[in-house]
Amino acid sequence: MSDRYALVGNPVAHSKSPWIHAEFARASSQDLDYGLLESPLDGFAATVQRFRAAGGKGLNVTLPFKQEAFRLCRTVSERARRAQAVNTLVLETGFGDNTDGIGLVRDIERNAGVPLAGARVLLIGAGGAAAGALGPLLAAAPALLVVANRTVAKAQALVERHRGAAGGVELSARAPGDCGSGFDVVVNATASSLQGAEIPVDSRVLGPGALALDMMYGPAAQGFIGWAQARGARGRDGLGMLVEQAAEAFALWRGVTPDTAPVLAALRERLSAASR
Ligand code: NDP
Repeated sequence: MSDRYALVGNPVAHSKSPWIHAEFARASSQDLDYGLLESPLDGFAATVQRFRAAGGKGLNVTLPFKQEAFRLCRTVSERARRAQAVNTLVLETGFGDNTDGIGLVRDIERNAGVPLAGARVLLIGAGGAAAGALGPLLAAAPALLVVANRTVAKAQALVERHRGAAGGVELSARAPGDCGSGFDVVVNATASSLQGAEIPVDSRVLGPGALALDMMYGPAAQGFIGWAQARGARGRDGLGMLVEQAAEAFALWRGVTPDTAPVLAALRERLSAASR
């Protein structure tokens, strides 16, 4: 029987992860099955336990369970500890990791070709996605990293948890209306795009030729991307981050690092064909 993996969350039906992992498995000749597992909101631990008891090897975790997954782990990676959120579980050992942030960093540096070392970076949001991103963004050694969130206290708490990982990075928490200007990279990690809400920051945040990345993809990301492009920035959605975080989870489980470029290109083609 194939080794079993799944994405657990609520809801999960929309997920592209089974397709991404099937492509990774095919290309690297790994024998595995990756499915979807919808957990009741009050039954996450029991859902994980049942999957494990049935022989399941690993889980990806999505909304709203990343914090609960963190509390369930026996051991966690340093980046998951600082994020206090886990998106990848190794069930045999009870180890938890957070691959969202490294996925974001790889997408920015490798796929978009924008170096983070020495850059001025603005991270908008302080929820689970921003928490996962902050540690790996700091590890990429930007000159300046500002975390801006509607609820400033949440940005401050996140920044304080990462102080010890800041190294030489000038790290601060601000309100979105007062977060500075002229950034090289602006990452929207809020749920504002999902809600069709206003762009949470002023256009002064966009430096010349800035990269403006929304963690969402599909139609929901277009508001932020269009806003940035109309002001001379490069817009990018969260699809590359999605594929890269999946690749890091796959490597953790299987010991094989998949080639992400063909999978990302094929996924983009599938999504644009579906929207035509
Ligand atoms: P959370 O619910 O944990 O956090 C939501 C964040 O958005 C908070 O910072 C919140 O601010 C802010 N926010 C919500 N509404 C607004 C608004 N109208 N204006 C300004 N700020 C707002 O969500 P997550 O962090 O888990 O997810 C955020 C986004 O990232 C989602 O769209 C998700 O789909 C995406 N994502 C993409 C991934 C990928 O692989 N591409 C991976 C993970 C997430 P406050 O604290 O003030 O409430």
